[in-house]
Amino acid sequence: MTVADLRRAVDAEVQRSWSDHQWTRWLDAAADLRGQQFRNVVLIKLQMPDAVWVDGRTGWQRQGRRVVRGASGIRIVASGQDVDRHAGPVQGHGVATVWDFAQTEGRIPSWRTAANMRVPDVYAALTRVAADAGYRVDRGALPDALNGATTDRQKRRVTVSDELEGSVAAMSLAHELAHLRMHKLSRDSGCHGLVRLEAESVAYLTLARFGALPVQQMASAAATLGRRPATRLVETLGGRVVAAAGRLIDSTERYLPTPRISRHPGCSGPITFDAEDRELNRGL
Ligand SMILES: [Zn+2]
Repeated sequence: MTVADLRRAVDAEVQRSWSDHQWTRWLDAAADLRGQQFRNVVLIKLQMPDAVWVDGRTGWQRQGRRVVRGASGIRIVASGQDVDRHAGPVQGHGVATVWDFAQTEGRIPSWRTAANMRVPDVYAALTRVAADAGYRVDRGALPDALNGATTDRQKRRVTVSDELEGSVAAMSLAHELAHLRMHKLSRDSGCHGLVRLEAESVAYLTLARFGALPVQQMASAAATLGRRPATRLVETLGGRVVAAAGRLIDSTERYLPTPRISRHPGCSGPITFDAEDRELNRGL
């Protein structure tokens, strides 16, 4: 198994399964598999669809866990020092092996982030991230706003439509923050095509990470890129989105309260809500 083999596997998987549905699945996976590059997210989901938290052998040891005997590892392209390198460096990269949480045993680790934050907290944290960039966030009437929000770069102000509620408002704010960080837009009319899809995808991934996604449809990836896009295009988009969302998540997290509730990483999906949170998330 070489890096070239892994690249071919990613190419084939992107060619085979590209669709709106698959794009959101990869974003969901990237939200779980924090810190992994897009290419490795594709490889991990390809080899172990239920993986939620992967690390190298020594990484797990640091967590007080060990890889279960006989568990076959997941091959990815090495990007850090915390992974077991099997092949030597190939153009600066090598093949690394990681294992999912479910393939390990030992001490129960402390979860790294809340995967289930309250929407009002997420919105407030995003507001503080905007403030750090010198932007004030307010609410107002925006009948024609493309995305339910608009950014005035001259006045350094983000306005979120006062008609939006809860996680939809948070998603719109995250969308504007993604533009601020990724794109040089002079006007909202620049928000279309790939630029729009990037901002939407970063907002989606960020809110997915905090368990605060709205039930709305994202901009269509397949409509933007076409039904059979060049693999390189998908990988470039995925790489940019995952990297930008990772940074936005890091910035936002600093302003989030310490998690009271977390998702058990060994299982897919079981998020422990309590009734109060449901009400809050619906009601903001
Ligand atoms: Zn936009």
